Amino acid sequence: MMQDSKVLILEDDQFQVKYFRKALEKVGIEQVWEAADGRQALDLLKEVEPDIIFCDLKMEGMDGVEFIRHASQQGIFSSLVFTSALDAGIVSSVESMARSYGFTVLGKLEKPVELEALKKILAASEDQARTAVLEDAEIFTFDQIISALENDEITPWFQPKVGFDDGDWVGSEALARWDSPTHGMINPASFIPLLETVSEIDLLMAAIFEKSVRQCKAWLNIGKRVNVAVNFSVRNLTDIDLPKRIMGLLDWYGVPPELITVEVTESAVSSDTKKVTECLARLRMNGVNVSIDDFGTGFSSIQQLSKIPFNELKIDLSFVQDSVSNPNARAIVESNISLARQFKMKTVAEGVETKEQWDLMKSMGVDICQGFYTGRPMKGKDSIEWYLNR
Ligand code: C2E
Ligand code: CA
Ligand code: CA
Repeated sequence: MMQDSKVLILEDDQFQVKYFRKALEKVGIEQVWEAADGRQALDLLKEVEPDIIFCDLKMEGMDGVEFIRHASQQGIFSSLVFTSALDAGIVSSVESMARSYGFTVLGKLEKPVELEALKKILAASEDQARTAVLEDAEIFTFDQIISALENDEITPWFQPKVGFDDGDWVGSEALARWDSPTHGMINPASFIPLLETVSEIDLLMAAIFEKSVRQCKAWLNIGKRVNVAVNFSVRNLTDIDLPKRIMGLLDWYGVPPELITVEVTESAVSSDTKKVTECLARLRMNGVNVSIDDFGTGFSSIQQLSKIPFNELKIDLSFVQDSVSNPNARAIVESNISLARQFKMKTVAEGVETKEQWDLMKSMGVDICQGFYTGRPMKGKDSIEWYLNR
């Protein structure tokens, strides 16, 4: 419950602190600590562990920026809310710095603190706590994962991709899910990173890819031409026989190559450029689509674009979600779109969760939407029902 939250107000202006305390009282939060600068806060944090720290940036003594660095070294895991009156650009760069230190940033609050804005932040904090529990990646051993693969417990779910222009269902991304008889449904973060370190990632890819092609064919059979996108790891793409096997499979199932998209992250492309380029180029020559995933989060992004014939660019969810409140993120999305146009690539906005994000991405001219707002990942057989109910 929100009322049980422990809160630290890090603020050097006594007037603001008083105002803040009143607002917290009104929403029923009673466990409140205060500190007038970073040093005091760090001392206090040796004794208490607040759920949320409301952090001013400019303070006499240790400022908020320095505090964040020390707090992370001190092993503090509280969520942060910034309450600075500084320029939005400065605050958002501190936000991303805090995130890279591993903090959850819930947002920022104008001063003096208004009740409604505070309630919104606290609601975000509750959501955060819930998903953190869900996403808390469980650790499995290599043997457990391999036997899950052998027992066919890992299969693709499909998240719809929808055109911004007419809202039509244009494709679905296959996302691996492990349906474990003992642990329930497990997300890829709990098994893909480990698999990616070994050649068995090929087994996963083969399983997911064939099932995805079959799903594509099943939709085709009932008259729905929807593209299916499959994620490939760098290890998959250093196997230069891969294009031949893929084309053979498409041929076997009677699925036209233009209905298949291979999604690759930038980091995958930079690690073994020659083989990966050969693989991807051959796939493109055969009519398969190639998409660059999580764009803007890796290195030398732009250079990759000129080397590999990508025809789709996926704007990373962090930029999409931040765009609504952060002009810097919006500028990145804009430059991604114009870059994509120059390379004749389609753009996909990933992670669209709200109407506000949908409206913004649409107005900026992004082609395709993928996110919880239009559809969560679902079983293949549920996709048609999703489509009909929209
Ligand atoms: P990704 O390729 O970037 O996939 C998109 C991720 O964003 C998915 O997480 C999806 O569930 C999530 N997502 C989609 N819309 C929203 C939204 O509106 N809000 C939020 N918060 N999240 C959204 P998921 O399924 O957990 O997959 C995580 C990553 O695991 C994928 O990121 C991909 O890199 C990897 N992965 C998944 N399946 C496979 C696979 O078959 N092979 C390989 N190599 N990697 C896979
Ligand atoms: Ca992907
Ligand atoms: Ca992505």
